[in-house]
Amino acid sequence: MTEKCYYDDAYTYTWESEVIEVIPKEDKYLIVLDKTYFYPEGGGQPSDSGTIDDIKVSYVFEENKKIYHQVEKAPKKKTVLCKLDYEKRFINMQQHTGEHLLAATFYKYYKGVSNAFHMGEDYTSIDISLPEVSPQMVKEIENKVNEIIYKNVEVKTYLKEIEEAKKLPLRKQPKVNEDIRIVEIDGVDFCPCCGTHVKRTGEVGIFKIIKTEKSKGATRIYFQCGKRALEDYSKKHKIVSILNEKFSANENTLLEKIEKYMADVREIENEIKELKREAVVCEAQKLVKNSKETVIYEEYDNKSIDEIINISKQLFQMGKYIFIGLSLKEMKLFITHNTDLILHCGNIIKNELNKYAGKGGGSPIQAQAIFESKEDLIKCGQALRVICKSLEDE
Ligand SMILES: [Zn+2]
Repeated sequence: MTEKCYYDDAYTYTWESEVIEVIPKEDKYLIVLDKTYFYPEGGGQPSDSGTIDDIKVSYVFEENKKIYHQVEKAPKKKTVLCKLDYEKRFINMQQHTGEHLLAATFYKYYKGVSNAFHMGEDYTSIDISLPEVSPQMVKEIENKVNEIIYKNVEVKTYLKEIEEAKKLPLRKQPKVNEDIRIVEIDGVDFCPCCGTHVKRTGEVGIFKIIKTEKSKGATRIYFQCGKRALEDYSKKHKIVSILNEKFSANENTLLEKIEKYMADVREIENEIKELKREAVVCEAQKLVKNSKETVIYEEYDNKSIDEIINISKQLFQMGKYIFIGLSLKEMKLFITHNTDLILHCGNIIKNELNKYAGKGGGSPIQAQAIFESKEDLIKCGQALRVICKSLEDE
């Protein structure tokens, strides 16, 4: 059995302990100490990290009342100096105490019960047994929680036997039957919990709900407290400042300016679409005017294969043609026809491709190919043009 010092004192971060056991486990060691301030993973709170005689503690867990500290190598001495990563511990204390305040406030005002608690590097959340949490409720809950923080009330922890614990107005029923640890927030909440908490609510600093989402009939509430909330604020403040600069705006005008910008972009996109449609018509007319033959061949520097396909569709409205279009920027070729000639576009392209570094294929009426070099693309295009012309002459 290990003495769990973090139960009575969450603030000590350096101390001496006696090593009771060293258990090799795969390429690591599990250390059991006579007493520890390292919090083992549990109750939604991640385990502490730190060092034992300067050896890194990567994970801490509890099993049969013993606490195991996972380390890379075994300490040499029996009496060891332990150090906690206090920055991480204090953030956990802030987040965890904030969780009690949030759950207690939801319970008091909406009878919502908190079920799942997640506290990690990535995010902190609880699931509240309410199918709907409105923005109005979020604002109200946030204000109530912050009011308790401003009042700086005491957070007490003590052990109770089950019968005594049952007499308390507990927000949740305990999961164990003996030595029930109660966390009491003065005038606010009684809850069984084994985690580490701050001594007074003022140390939580600030509480902010980040977002809510529906989760299996309940609502998941993401939140940040204290240092984490400040980091979150700083990150978002930086983004807003950059946007303000880019849009020559301030906090009051930024959204309006972005909406106007997006409306302008949509208008420009529509204009571009219309211009492209007109360009396709013009291009098809130009091709018909310049070529007196059934076979129309064209190389395009800057048109995509999709634009070339659109040109062919327009062309076919104007007569019967074999059209070969090359996109030099995409290194692609497109061939299509709407004539009565015996011409299978897919087969003709496949035959020709044997001679070049390219691949492709298609149906009797249209086919495509892609090439590794511009030279092969053009050679293949011109060869197809000759073949098609000979068909026309037959
Ligand atoms: Zn707790």
